Formats: sequence, structure tokens, C-alpha cells
Amino acid sequence: MTSGWRLDAQAAHDALNQLKAATRILMPTHQNVDADSLSSVLALTIALRQHGLEVVPIISDGSLPHALEFLPGASEVLLYTRDEAPEYDMLCLADCSDRTRLGKFYKDDPSRLDGRVPIVNIDHHITNGRFGVVNIVEPSAASATEIIADVLAVWGTVLTREIAQCLLAGIYGDTLGLRTESTTSRTMRTAADLVDAGANPVPIVDALFRLKPKSSVCLWRKALEGVQWTGELIWTELTEETFAECGAQPSEAEGMVNFLAGTEGSRAAAILFANDHGWRISMRSLPVDVDVAAITAEFGGGGHPRAAGVQIEGGEAEKQHFLSRVAELIAEPRVK
Ligand code: AMP
Ligand code: MN
Ligand code: MN
Repeated sequence: MTSGWRLDAQAAHDALNQLKAATRILMPTHQNVDADSLSSVLALTIALRQHGLEVVPIISDGSLPHALEFLPGASEVLLYTRDEAPEYDMLCLADCSDRTRLGKFYKDDPSRLDGRVPIVNIDHHITNGRFGVVNIVEPSAASATEIIADVLAVWGTVLTREIAQCLLAGIYGDTLGLRTESTTSRTMRTAADLVDAGANPVPIVDALFRLKPKSSVCLWRKALEGVQWTGELIWTELTEETFAECGAQPSEAEGMVNFLAGTEGSRAAAILFANDHGWRISMRSLPVDVDVAAITAEFGGGGHPRAAGVQIEGGEAEKQHFLSRVAELIAEPRVK
């Protein structure tokens, strides 16, 4: 596929001017941090420091997944709430469609994101709430880092090997290694330019798609044993007990929903992660006429047409309602 987006260079200049006005910029990831989110934060941190700015990267909710430890700069990222956020007078968000995506960092004090502290917002979610003083939102970009690659070119940032490695990791993370429908010729060109700048795809592919701890095998076995069907929706549920029994982190279920979505006879897949108040649900679809962003939006969630998520509050009844409604929405249209 070719790509129809072009970076708004003026917005990129405006973003840098805003950021330059700050004394200290805080850069939180989204909750359940993934490769695109952390890579965006790390690449922007290195870049902005190059421009002489003070930047503090922080994981807003959850932990640093083992699979992301290889990213340049990952070891110095603060971990909210283990670490307190320092004083800051600017927020720079990337890969965050709305404020609630900041998880605990938002929930502990929603006024942190009420706009009093200006926000620079760089994202690729169609559902982005454009809550920043500067918004660089390109829904047809395959990853936030694909946008950031262009932003850094406008800023005149020197594309170091570390920055290139982070940006490529974000692209690989969100495109499953340049394999998703969102991958365009432009995505591939950007990826190729990053390799020319010194990025190495091998450790990225190993960390994101090949290496796994033993606990992941335990978790996947239990998840696959529990697979169920509601109509053409294939799904499984993972509880905190299952994670504890296997000694696994939530991020180890990453990839499982994509695996299920490729099952013949299914039109969409879901993983239901049980939590105190209900379920965090991760969804994927392969058929182009099944838009999981639209489906999850009906329940207050969102994301991309082929990859989306939602939090369902309540108990078994609410869960069953969600499953049967999704089955209804994904059902193949039948000619009458
Ligand atoms: P995940 O299944 O957690 O990998 O998320 C897939 C996509 O859906 C990501 O792009 C997320 O940003 C988005 N997403 C996940 N959960 C939510 C939610 N509760 N609200 C809005 N977007 C979400
Ligand atoms: Mn993400
Ligand atoms: Mn992303």
C-alpha cells in the first residue's frame, strides 16, 4: 500500500518551540507500555537532549517489560509509582490517544492532564482527542515512531544509531515486523533509512518476536487450553492467578491475540485480562470488513481498525454481553 500522509512541518516546528520554552519536560509512556510507546519516548528523549533540553522519560503505569530492556536508554527510564515524577512544566506524549491511556499517572491525579501543564501530542490513533497545544496526529502512519522520524528530520536532529534503533523498534513493534495492513511503502522507506543510519533489525526481531522466558510457554499453554468461541469470535481469558502461577508479566501475553486472530473460521480475536473491576480486553481482526476500533468504541475503547482495546467494568453478565455483542457485530454479512 502507498501512503497518503505528509508531516505538517509547521506543526513540527511549533512543537519544538513549545518544548524549548519548558524548564523540564516529562515524557510518560502509555499504560501497558509497548515497543512503539517506549521507543517513541526514548527516541524523543535522546533527540531533545541533543537540542539542549531537559527531559525525563517515565513509564506511567505497569513495569518495564523484559522484552523492551534492549532499547537504548531503557535502563534509565523512571517507573511510576516506584519512582516519583519530578517537577515538570511540559508534557510530551507520543502514541497516546487520550489522557486515560496514561493509567495510574492520570488516575492518581487527573489534573496532571487538564491542560494547565501544556501538552505536545504526537500520535497515530484515529481516535486521538487532540488535547495538546500542538497536535501532530497522523492516523495512517503505521507507528508513532514513523511520524517521529519525520519530526526529527524537520528539527534537524542528528539521527544517531541509538535514535534510529528506537525508531525502527517502534515501527517493527506496531507492524509485527513490517507485516500488518498498516505497513505502507513509506513505512518501509523510513525503516530502510533507519537501517542506513545504523539501526540493526536483528536484536529487535529477536527481542520482540523470538526470545521468550519459560514463563511465557506456561502462560501460552494455559491461555490456549482456555480458548473459547462465541460465534466467530475466538477468545481466551487470563487471570492474575494464571500470571502468578506461571510467574509471567502481563507483557508476556503480547502476540497471543495476533496468534489467535489468524485462526481459520474466526473473524476476530480477543484476550480478556481479568482485573479488580472487570476486564482489560485486547482485540485483533484480519478481515478488512471487521473494524475492531469501531467495535471497542461502542464500549468506550478504541485503537486501530485491526488492533484495538477496551476496559469492561462489571462481572460475568457484562462479560457475556460484550462477547455476544461482538459476535453479532463481526458476523459475516449474509446475502438474504
Ligand atoms: P493492545 O491490544 O493493548 O495492544 O492495544 C491495541 C491498540 O488499541 C493500541 O493501539 C492501543 O493504543 C489501543 N487501545 C488499547 N486499549 C485501549 C483503550 N482502553 N482505549 C483506547 N484505545 C485502546
Ligand atoms: Mn502503543
Ligand atoms: Mn503505536
